[in-house]
Amino acid sequence: MKVPFADLKAQYFSIKNEIDAAIAKVIDETAFIGGHFVKDFEEKFGKAYGVKHVIGCGNGTDTLYVLMKMLGIGNGDEVITPANSWISSSESITQTGAKPVFADVHPYYFSIDESKLEEKITSKTKAIIPVHLQGQMCDMEKIKAICEKHKLFLIEDCAQAHFSEFNGLKAGLFGIAGSFSFYPGKNLGAYGDAGCIITNDDSLAEKCKMYARHGALIKHQHQMEGINSRLDGMQAAILEAKLPYVMEWTEKRIAHANSYCKYLSDVNEIILPKVRPNSKHTYHLYVIRAQKRNDLMQFLKENEIETSLHYPTPLPYLPAYKYLNHSPADFPVATLLQKEILSLPMYAEMTEEMSVFVADKIREFYKK
Ligand SMILES: *Cc1c(COP(=O)(O)O)cnc(C)c1O
Repeated sequence: MKVPFADLKAQYFSIKNEIDAAIAKVIDETAFIGGHFVKDFEEKFGKAYGVKHVIGCGNGTDTLYVLMKMLGIGNGDEVITPANSWISSSESITQTGAKPVFADVHPYYFSIDESKLEEKITSKTKAIIPVHLQGQMCDMEKIKAICEKHKLFLIEDCAQAHFSEFNGLKAGLFGIAGSFSFYPGKNLGAYGDAGCIITNDDSLAEKCKMYARHGALIKHQHQMEGINSRLDGMQAAILEAKLPYVMEWTEKRIAHANSYCKYLSDVNEIILPKVRPNSKHTYHLYVIRAQKRNDLMQFLKENEIETSLHYPTPLPYLPAYKYLNHSPADFPVATLLQKEILSLPMYAEMTEEMSVFVADKIREFYKK
């Protein structure tokens, strides 16, 4: 049995009529940039999320950059983010002129370890960007308390956590703003690059909107220089067509995670992902910790099961951050996880048969 890591085509075929109609409508109205498709999606996403402002942007990386710029973060400042994430979380900090400061991660929840945050705070620290990695939220009560105590901005990177919850509140609603990516493979994905900012802060919302649209809310009236980072009409229409299905897809991801848990819980050589108490994990990724990880990965590949690594190298050890001179001792947990993490196939359209097959093959590998 072939088990791909994800299957965007299967998702497309499940709602082909809606998607095709949405695309045709945008072309028919030539509403490619701006226009009502963008406004409609922003309104619907805001309603679904329970947030006042949604600002569509060109991608998720830009949303982080735009937010930090409009919060006045720049040269000489420091921003704390986890050692294990996609590079957007840290490169957007550098782009503002600030310095990314990495914090180690939690051995079972994989995201930033709130107990290692305060030691990273200096007089230059302006913000903390926790990343709700894999669809599981960080301990936002503790992180929020730290931000309040030290008067830091709390910006949530929700690129992997659409509709995830902690203590009954959704990702992106704990701090000043949340940042989303709608990259095609995300839990809510466009058919190209797309992203959005959410915030309940009126003034920040207006600034971000202006900055992402060349510094002008009204054409030709540039209040400042900005950048060009707009959500386009086609992507907005596709996202709007997909939005009603997101919760159903999320429930399916959760069911597949439960299935993995059921069929893998007796395998001693692996550690299954743990769900943080009082939280809703939306399983953007299903990451196990595995002994002999590379050999397991190869064995699964030979059995037509596609797996992946998120991420093969912790951010501080990438060539891009060589100048920070970090050593493995600086982030012992991220260093340990690097050798053990393995992302198993996870997408709404996979079947229980597939998760059973993956589990059987993992068991077979360790019995050899
Ligand atoms: C996907 C992702 C982003 C943003 O990605 P874009 O491709 O720019 O939309 C940011 N942070 C994390 C953790 C991500 O996974």
